[in-house]
Amino acid sequence: MNRLNTVKIRYGLVGANGKMGAEIQSYFSSLGDLCVLRKDMGVFEEIERPQVIIDFSSPDAVFETIELCRKFNCGLVIGTTALSEEHFAKLKELAEHVPVVQSYNFSTGIAILRRIIKEYASYFEDWDAAMVEIHHNMKKDAPSGTAKMLKQALGRDIPISSIRVGGVFGEHTLIFSNSGETVEITHRALSRRAFAIGVRNAALFVLEKEKGFFSYDDVLESAQ
Ligand code: NAD
Repeated sequence: MNRLNTVKIRYGLVGANGKMGAEIQSYFSSLGDLCVLRKDMGVFEEIERPQVIIDFSSPDAVFETIELCRKFNCGLVIGTTALSEEHFAKLKELAEHVPVVQSYNFSTGIAILRRIIKEYASYFEDWDAAMVEIHHNMKKDAPSGTAKMLKQALGRDIPISSIRVGGVFGEHTLIFSNSGETVEITHRALSRRAFAIGVRNAALFVLEKEKGFFSYDDVLESAQ
């Protein structure tokens, strides 16, 4: 990604007044990028056509975001969670024309953890497994999108406990246990910056692609 760090991105942001919206603007502007379109509840400010739109808002906003991408013929990076099958179908339709990167978690640590889980899942086949995820008390969905991704990587149904307390940015612990021992694997986001870095990697990736539906794994693989 170093080669691309000299690129200045002119981006649109849906959910601009939210917690992730603030972190994305803070990180992107520290690298010289420009937010040229801001959208939130009752807010729409357009300075110029964005090269890419970023959506960290609510499922309610997503169809309008898709329309914006069509209008500007630009790609999309979407981190909003709790999307429905209909949302995914529409995002995939959009991806026939422009690049779309969708992930319920843009942190590199979670991408690595998913790979570890996939590789070692078979060793834990006969063990009990469960997950505990902890997030700040304003988070609307449960279980988290990340918990769903980790469960999918494991390849079996496991109980998930969701705890909503204080200002926790995001913590996921996978627990494996048999009659003699327990293994726990934890990922802890130390700030929202972990996600904003991944979002920028994805935005740069979008600028280089013509069209298609991509995951954050695709973004990381392209950087290796
Ligand atoms: P937040 O509540 O702080 O911000 C959401 C913003 O979206 C708010 O400003 C709200 O007014 C705005 N919004 C809601 N509905 C809207 C609509 N219809 N049109 C325009 N704007 C609308 O939440 P947050 O913590 O910033 O998280 C936002 C989303 O991102 C959530 O779905 C969250 O789960 C997800 N998230 C994803 C990742 C990831 O890595 N994929 C990381 C953190 C959060």
